[in-house]
Order: sequence, then structure tokens, then C-alpha cells
Amino acid sequence: VLSKGKFSATFGIRSGKFLLHPQVSPEGKKSKNPALWWVDGAGEEVKWSFEELGVLSRKVSNVLSDACSLQWGDRVILILPRIPEWWLVNVACMRTGTVLIPGTQQLTAKDILHRLQKSKAKCIITDESVAPAVDSVGAECQSLKFKLLVSDSHREGWLNFKDLLKNASSDHHCVTTKCQDPMAIYFTSGTTGSPKMTQHSHSSYGIGLTGKKPGSVRYWLDLTSSDIFWNTSDTGWAKSAWSSIFSPWIQGACVFVHKMPHFDPRIIDDCQLFVFSFPLSYTFKSLRHCVSAGEPINPDVMEEWKAQTGLDIHEGYGQTETVLICGNFKGMKIKPGSMGKPSPEYDVKIIDENSNILPPGKEGDIAIRVKPTRSPFLFTCYADDPEKTEATIRGDFYVTGDRGMMDEDGYFWFVGRADDVINSAGYRIGPFEVESALVEHPAVVESAVVSSPDPIRGEVVKAFIVLTPDYASHDPEKMMKELQDHVKKVTAPYKYPRKMEFVEQLPKTISGKIRRNELRQKEWRKD
Ligand code: ATP
Ligand code: MG
Repeated sequence: VLSKGKFSATFGIRSGKFLLHPQVSPEGKKSKNPALWWVDGAGEEVKWSFEELGVLSRKVSNVLSDACSLQWGDRVILILPRIPEWWLVNVACMRTGTVLIPGTQQLTAKDILHRLQKSKAKCIITDESVAPAVDSVGAECQSLKFKLLVSDSHREGWLNFKDLLKNASSDHHCVTTKCQDPMAIYFTSGTTGSPKMTQHSHSSYGIGLTGKKPGSVRYWLDLTSSDIFWNTSDTGWAKSAWSSIFSPWIQGACVFVHKMPHFDPRIIDDCQLFVFSFPLSYTFKSLRHCVSAGEPINPDVMEEWKAQTGLDIHEGYGQTETVLICGNFKGMKIKPGSMGKPSPEYDVKIIDENSNILPPGKEGDIAIRVKPTRSPFLFTCYADDPEKTEATIRGDFYVTGDRGMMDEDGYFWFVGRADDVINSAGYRIGPFEVESALVEHPAVVESAVVSSPDPIRGEVVKAFIVLTPDYASHDPEKMMKELQDHVKKVTAPYKYPRKMEFVEQLPKTISGKIRRNELRQKEWRKD
């Protein structure tokens, strides 16, 4: 399935016979689920109840406040793989009022320098694989005062997290925070430029992901306290806060973690690894609910997924800035290719350049109403950047930067990022529709569609295509003609790519998103 498209998926696994603990939670009975169940695939296992999580996170809070003298508002960069300590630091930062800034392990020394300087973080917590990179740039970061190493070994200039934890008290007085106080800063994926520091408050993810209203994000993930939930997103992204911390724990569900060394977008392979490397009673049948977010998902991929598993993918649409904007919630009819309906936490509209609301069927900017009241779930600001924050507001709305359309039934359809929409001889063409058409062809693994200069039309549609191995040696001229005819058949003919280039791979962000702007810039630089 995955060879056909791009996934960022999350799996909810209903408890049942496959669990190590008897988790079945009959009505009224408290679930015996641990809060965190961690395995490393090599026989190591950690299980913490919510109570144990409380004790340990209070100890970590004392490490932050005592050993590192961190105070309310101090910023802490956390770069760790999927190890239990990552969860403890998340909770400890909330308790101490320090502002958590997670980062992915794939950051280079240059990225780390940029983040340390931009955020003015006072503390960094990481392991021995990233510590040398930090040391190579540390001298250029005046604000950095404490380096905490999560490791059994020691390193000069670093405090040892595990030693400090052993000796820390489990009594900790939780700092009182106001709902708009900063809780965390998440860097965006950097798909369109330099990643932005998106600041969230103590109310935004906490309350936003509680979602008491019917049809809210809570119903997107469909979790209960008897569920075990496996989210595979990298610990460096906001999606981990959504799905590895707030959503499951607010519902009392168990967070299952498999310590995969690196993020691998071929997530189904990982899933099969999980499923098949466990005793046979851990069957794929246990999988009950699947969601996907972060990039549009081609209808063709959804169909194949359903054919293989019998399950729908409940697509969700959101941003680091917003939590969930639209979703296919439990019980809703799914229209493949649509992002579903707005989360009831937000008033989502399609607007034009003068912030007028557009009627169903009209393409425009996807926007969230922020006046007269700005939802507490929305990010507070881009940290230390009031201009950039201000630039997201148009009239009464926060403008997402994405283009879309709402149909008569209130379903939202993604057209593309505003910058990615192609304007060819007066026709506006969204890349997603063309890419979805292309991926339906058996020769196409994935594609990126961008604008390319043309002397007559101004710009035309160009597709960069990764071919499946079976088709890689086909005559490029014939292949191009075949794919053009295919697109003309499955979508409005004017959208077909007049230019095509076959490539080995597409440029992507470290989180695996296609960087169309890089391809577009190259096209326009040529002429
Ligand atoms: P940057 O803002 O740094 O360029 P980014 O926008 O990719 O990076 P994220 O906040 O991780 O950073 O991603 C949010 C964006 O991802 C959305 O604005 C949208 O363009 C895209 N996206 C998320 N979910 C979906 C979805 N279901 N369908 C289509 N696009 C999606
Ligand atoms: Mg963005």
C-alpha cells in the first residue's frame, strides 16, 4: 500500500486478547491499562501506571527546578528518540512552567545551532548520539546554561539525567499557570521555508484535545480508557504532542511506544513488523481505527488500504498552529479525498482575499474565525515574531495558508498550499488533484506537481514522477504520453501535466513532506 503513496498514520488498537495485561474494561470498571507501555523490540519493556508516571515526572520536575535552576518561562530543548524519558520531560515541563521545545533526532549541528539561537533555550536534554553536535555549536549559544545527557555513560560538560533522577525527590509543587501562559514551542515542518516557532499555551492542546463536543478531535481518534494507542510520529513534531501525550492520556488510554530507531514513512512495514514479530494472538484483526494527517492522502491509497485491512482511514487536517481543523470523525460518512468536516472547536470557512466568506463549491483560503473571540486552542503566536503572527490574520480570520473548497454537504476538500496552486492560462489548478490522478496509474509511486514557465500560457503544470521499478526502464516519451492520457481521462483534461520529469526521489522535509517549492524554484530559475 505504502509504495503507492505517502503516509503519516496513527493506529488505535482496541484492547483484547492480544494485550499482556487483562485490559478489558466492562462498563463501570476502571481500566487496568498502564499509562505508558514501551518496548524496544529487543526484549526491553517498560510499563508505567498513571501513578508511577506521576511519581517519576515529579522527580524530573525537581531535576529541572533544582539541578538546573530552571524557572517559569525558561525554554528547554528536548531531542530524544522514543524512550520513556521523553514522556517524563514532557510532563515535567508542564509541572515546572518551563517551555518545552521538542526537536527531531535528525537535526544537524547547524539546525541545532539555529534552534538554540532562535529560541534562546536555557537547557537542552538529549542523548549521546546528538550531544557531540550540541558541543560543536554550544559555544555560539550564549543562553544555553545546562546540558542534560540521558545516558548510562557520562560526558564532560554535561549533567547526567539518570543520576540526577535517581537522587531526586518525588515531592514537587506544581507551578500554577494561567491558561494563556506558554506551555510549548513546536517547530513547524519547514515545508514552505524555515520552520516557524509555534507557541502554544497551557490551554491550547490540553483543552483543545479534550474535545467534549460531539464530533470533536476526541472522536477522530475514537479512544477510550481501555484502548492501547500506537502513534508513530517522530518525537520532534507537534503531532507527537497531539497523539502521544494529550489525546490518549486525556481519555485515560495507554500510549504504546515501539522504539524504532528512525522515523520511517513506510509505516505499514513497521506495523507488520510489530504485528508479526509478536505471538500469533497479536493479530492484525485487533486494529480497529486508523487515522492519517499531515499531508493529503490520495483516494487510491485509501481504497487499497481498505482492500487490505477492511478499515477506513479517517483523514484529519490540521497544523502545528491549530490542532485539528477538519476530520473524518467516528460515524461520519467518509468521502475519499475529502478532509472531512470542521472540528466543532473551530468556525472554519472558505474566504476570499477580502475575507468574504465564499459559498459551497468555490475555492478559496481555508480560514478559522478569530474575531470576536480567538479560540484558546489556536497557537498563541510565533514566538518572538509579532509581525509573522500578525500576518496570519485577515479581517476576522486566521488564514491557514492552505487553499480548499467546501461542498454542499459541508465537507472540506484540500486544493493545495496557497503557494503551490498553479495558474495556467487563467485556470487555477491544485497540485493535489493532479497528483491523485497520477498515483492511480500503476507506473507511479508518487509525484509532485508544480508550475513551470511557458511562453504562451504563463505557467503550465509540470509533474515530477517517481516510477515503480517495473516501469522505470520504459521509453520516457511513451510513458509521458500514457500518463498524460491517463490524467486527461480521470480528471478535467486541462489539468494534465504538459511537462514531466522522471526522478529517483522527491525533495522532502525531514518529516517526509514533499517540498514542492524547491522544485518550483528550480523550474523558474532555469528561464
Ligand atoms: P511550514 O509551515 O514550516 O511550511 P508545514 O505547514 O508542513 O510546514 P505542519 O504544521 O507540520 O508544517 O503541517 C501543516 C500543513 O500540512 C497544513 O497547513 C497542510 O498544508 C498540510 N496538511 C496537514 N494535514 C493535511 C491533510 N489531511 N490534507 C492536506 N494537507 C494537510
Ligand atoms: Mg505551515
